[in-house]
Amino acid sequence: MAELIDGKAIAAELRGQITTDVEELISVGVTPGLAVVLVGEDPASRVYVSMKEKACAAAGIYSVEHKLPAETDQSQLLELIDSLNNDEKIDGILVQLPLPEHIDEAQVLETISPAKDVDGFHPYNVGRLMTGHPVFQPCTPYGIMKMLEHTGVELKGKEVVIVGRSNIVGKPVALMCLAEHATVTICHSRTVDLPQKVAAADIVIAAVGRPEMIKGDWIKKGAIVIDVGVNRVGEKKLVGDVDFAAASVNAAAITPVPGGVGPMTITMLLYNTLLGAKRRAGESS
Ligand code: NDP
Repeated sequence: MAELIDGKAIAAELRGQITTDVEELISVGVTPGLAVVLVGEDPASRVYVSMKEKACAAAGIYSVEHKLPAETDQSQLLELIDSLNNDEKIDGILVQLPLPEHIDEAQVLETISPAKDVDGFHPYNVGRLMTGHPVFQPCTPYGIMKMLEHTGVELKGKEVVIVGRSNIVGKPVALMCLAEHATVTICHSRTVDLPQKVAAADIVIAAVGRPEMIKGDWIKKGAIVIDVGVNRVGEKKLVGDVDFAAASVNAAAITPVPGGVGPMTITMLLYNTLLGAKRRAGESS
């Protein structure tokens, strides 16, 4: 049976280190600050924003929430971002996605200063990741890399198969694995014979958003499985993109859902905010 890659435990360990580093920074007069911008009333977004704020408070990071009504127009939002770009107490700016339809998401993300882009979504930071010199690494892929590091697996020469090619998970995690010298295959909805592609993987990263679509018998014996998917089934149950029980038979290690990648994503947001503050304090490049 597969070993569990316990995202909660890994996140807790990292958050402990982050909290210590935050205390040290505060002692030299620099309090890391995160601004979270929420436009509209999307219930899931409200939950995510409140989780991020709680995590900041627990780590000693100053956070400020800007809740704007759904009818906020583009220029008001850009003005707010501009003022946060110039706010010395703020090291990270996070605009919670999705934005209402009348807002041009790309323009909003491009207005965030790349030096405060703790989500790593600004095209400048995307380009820096592409060239192997990231300023901020996007939180979910970064969390995945930390989990892989925790398993002790060396990525060099390994076959990594990523299912999903989104800008926030699939593509950036592919670049990060490539930077670690893995051989990377990115699969998507038009991929032919997905089971055969997955079966070749030493490491499978599933970021699709379809409940348990990756079947247990696709998994090569001894593979590591990272399940990014979060799918609600019925009223309360959450499942990943991988059939966890069946995949656990062949996998050497696997992440659960919930309790896997999810806790790592917020942790890496704290980590990036801390990094921004260290740069402000002149302690990091
Ligand atoms: P997107 O919807 O942006 O992308 C999904 C990807 O899956 C697309 O590339 C799509 O292909 C591909 N896909 C869809 N159907 C199939 C199929 N049948 N076979 C192969 N590939 C398929 O999703 P995200 O990347 O934003 O998120 C993926 C999942 O991860 C979601 O469940 C989301 O909730 C979760 N998530 C979890 C996070 C966490 O912190 N735990 C953070 C971010 C996401 P195509 O491009 O061809 O359409």
